[in-house]
Amino acid sequence: MKYCPQCAHELHDMLIDGVDRRACPAAGCGFVHWNNPIPVVAGLVRHEGRYILARNAQWPAGMFSVITGFLEKNETPEGAILRETREELGVRGRRAEFIGHFALPEFNQLIIAFAVEADGSLGLGDEIAEIKALSRSELETHDFGHLELTRNIVSRCLAHTGSPDS
Ligand SMILES: [Zn+2]
Repeated sequence: MKYCPQCAHELHDMLIDGVDRRACPAAGCGFVHWNNPIPVVAGLVRHEGRYILARNAQWPAGMFSVITGFLEKNETPEGAILRETREELGVRGRRAEFIGHFALPEFNQLIIAFAVEADGSLGLGDEIAEIKALSRSELETHDFGHLELTRNIVSRCLAHTGSPDS
């Protein structure tokens, strides 16, 4: 951010609360660009005993991950991941169990991750190019390539959900 959204003065780097931040030096303005992380929900969806990975339409071939999305205003994280499950995969999430927070500093995001149990018929949303439905053992050995965070979320989900059912 280069200019103050309140008074249009050029922002400067200023040390505030011990952190370098972009802030407005104009007298009486006081704007600070806090740049707080954006919350994003992520969910590993289990449907008919198989784990669903999805490839976003904009991603290269072979790149699959858990589903993700931003929260709408006034939405709980649980509500957001159940909505994304419905929008992206067509299925109805019956339960979203929180499994952990994950920082994604490159995108200034905080990932709120869930294990989701879903039923109903699959029907892919516009954002999703294709999916994979993997058994637990297939998921455990799936190659996520450079998607380190996805691998961490998946292994945390698998540890959390316990009972092998592949
Ligand atoms: Zn200002």
